[in-house]
Amino acid sequence: MTLKIENHQLVGDLVSHRSTPNCGGIMAPSYLIFHYTAGRSTDSSVESLCTRKAQGNASAHVVLGRDGRIVQLAPFNVVTWHAGVSQWAGLVGLNSHSIGIEMDNAGLLKKVGSQYQAWFAKVYPDDEVTLAAHRNGGPVSPWHTYTEAQIERAVELADLLVEHYGLQDILGHEDIAPGRKTDPGPAFPLAAVRSRVIGREQDEPPRYVVTASSLNIRKGPDASFDRVAAALKSGSEVLLLEARDRWSLVEVVADPEIEGWVSNAYIAPSTGRGMALPRFTVAGPASTDPTIAVAKLKKGGKGKKARRHAP
Ligand SMILES: [Zn+2]
Repeated sequence: MTLKIENHQLVGDLVSHRSTPNCGGIMAPSYLIFHYTAGRSTDSSVESLCTRKAQGNASAHVVLGRDGRIVQLAPFNVVTWHAGVSQWAGLVGLNSHSIGIEMDNAGLLKKVGSQYQAWFAKVYPDDEVTLAAHRNGGPVSPWHTYTEAQIERAVELADLLVEHYGLQDILGHEDIAPGRKTDPGPAFPLAAVRSRVIGREQDEPPRYVVTASSLNIRKGPDASFDRVAAALKSGSEVLLLEARDRWSLVEVVADPEIEGWVSNAYIAPSTGRGMALPRFTVAGPASTDPTIAVAKLKKGGKGKKARRHAP
C-alpha cells in the first residue's frame, strides 16, 4: 500500500503514530524541512520528541527510521518545534510554516583512535561514514550515512507532502538556521531529493506568466527606462531572474535573447507544480505603463540563468 494522507495523518505500510505534547496551534505549511536526529535510534528519538523537558522542548511531525519506517508525532497542520530560531524567504520562525521530518541519524561523528564515534559514544563502522565538508563551511568531517531505504522513503514522503499541501520548497535545517545547525548534513542528498520531488532543475529560475493584455519590458526597474522589445502578450511565460519590490528582471521563455524589467503588478507565478515563489510585495494599485519604446537587449554576461533561487 502506498502512502497517503487522511485528515493530516499518514496512512500506509510501516507507519505508526504517537502523540507529542510538544506542539502548538494550527498552521498551513509552505515548506518541508529535513533534519537528522543526532540520536541513537528511531525509538530513542521518538521518546525524546514526545517528552516534556524542563528546558528545550522539541518535536517534529515525523521520525523516519533507517529501515524506512515512519512514526508520526503530530498532524501535519499542527505546529511542531523542530526549526527553532530560523528564517527563509522573508519568513521568520519556520515552525509556523513548515513540516519537520527528523531522520534517524547520528549526525556529525568524531574520530577516536581509528574509530568513528557519535557524541553518545556509539561506534559506527567505516561503511556507515561519509567523509565530506559541509556546504555551509568547515573542514572535511565524518558524518553518519543515511540508508537507501531511508532516502527512498524520504523521497516518497516528500513527494506526497509537496503534492498534498502545495509546498513551495524542500529545505534542510542547515538552510534555515545556517550559523547554528548542520542537519541533515552532507551525507543526505538534499539537492537530489529536492530536484526529484520539486521536478525542476535546481538552478532553473521560477516561471511567471504575464497577466496584463500587454506588458512593457524595459532596460531598468522603472517606467522611465526604454523598452527592450515589443510588449509581452498576456500569457507569455518569463523566467524570474531577480525580484525587487515593484519590478523584476525577467527572461522571455519564447525568446531567451530578450531580458528586461517588468512591473510586478502584471506577472503571476506560473501554476506549474512545485515552483519556488520568491516573495515580493506588489505595491498597488500598480501604475499602468502605456508608453512603449522598443529596443532589443542582447543578453549581457554569463551565468544569469545559473543564479540559484534563494540560497
Ligand atoms: Zn534539525
